[in-house]
Amino acid sequence: MYDVLILGAGPAGLGAAIYAARAGLSLAVIDQSPISGGQVLNTYEVDNYLGLMGETGGGLSDKFRAHADKLGTEFITDEVKSVEDLGDKKVVRGYERDYEARALILATGAAHSKLGIPGEDRLSGMGVSYCATCDGAFFKNRITAVVGGGDVAVEDALFLSNICKKVYLIHRRDSLRAVKSLQERLFAKENVEILWDSEVTEIIGENAVEKITVYNKKKQQQTEVEINGIFIAVGIVPNTGLFENLVETDERGYIKAGEDCATSCRGIYAAGDIRLKPMRQIITAVADGANAVNSIQSEFE
Ligand SMILES: Cc1cc2nc3c(=O)[nH]c(=O)nc-3n(C[C@H](O)[C@H](O)[C@H](O)COP(=O)(O)OP(=O)(O)OC[C@H]3O[C@@H](n4cnc5c(N)ncnc54)[C@H](O)[C@@H]3O)c2cc1C
Repeated sequence: MYDVLILGAGPAGLGAAIYAARAGLSLAVIDQSPISGGQVLNTYEVDNYLGLMGETGGGLSDKFRAHADKLGTEFITDEVKSVEDLGDKKVVRGYERDYEARALILATGAAHSKLGIPGEDRLSGMGVSYCATCDGAFFKNRITAVVGGGDVAVEDALFLSNICKKVYLIHRRDSLRAVKSLQERLFAKENVEILWDSEVTEIIGENAVEKITVYNKKKQQQTEVEINGIFIAVGIVPNTGLFENLVETDERGYIKAGEDCATSCRGIYAAGDIRLKPMRQIITAVADGANAVNSIQSEFE
């Protein structure tokens, strides 16, 4: 039986691994993928992780993994299918076999909802992005589009309006879901144009995004809009379905846990994008990993 099993080898899981190893806890990291890094692997370039400016997503993932390897972390490639809480013993059931630990760190991350349209996957990282905070700086003085109508989409459009020459906000309805204060700030921006009642139907470009086709449902009209980048903000889905009956979540599936990462179930901690928190970034995921281990050490004392 391990002291700690870490589910997920993204930044949260790897951050937890180095803190657990240095604390002298016996541990293993289980991930369905043999390549560590989680969502960071899908990032073209990471420019906002302290001390590692302009690192590629793959390069940063390699560095994270190398650090955990150097400290002797055991990595297991298996997909977790369920978790059982037996009080002082937690059982993780994988497709390969079962694993046991005194404590668990859930770090299975999240996935951004996609539009599911032609060009989206092919041009991902080549102008198609799901994170304006992460990739916005690459579009300085260029033309971008944001898809969505909620808080994240409007925040993304506001963020990009300070960097880009022009920003289109494309929303399928005739009003935004975002909070009033955000809407007011958006409407005051001269370089933001909102395309109402509209859906993006295709993203076009050879080696980078060049234009999109937009269908206006009210006018029943299709137009082409020339852009350099498109930011899709139509929701993010936490990978927490497996844990729904184990720990308390909010209505969207995010696990309720404070900065100590303690969930409603004793001995089970949630770190990274799966946790209910205001900002989901690499640096906050890594910090969660450290905090979760610190909480486990206090629990074991
Ligand atoms: C395109 C893109 C660009 C981004 N750019 C930046 C950026 O520039 N800067 C920044 O700070 N943030 C960026 N982010 C956000 C950042 O990547 C995330 O906040 C961070 O990766 C969250 O880390 P995590 O460890 O919580 O989860 P994840 O990175 O999602 O890792 C979760 C891991 O859990 C594994 N897993 C899931 N389910 C199971 C299961 N059932 N069994 C076993 N393993 C499982 C997955 O395989 C994955 O390896 C970006 C995100 C995306 C999508």
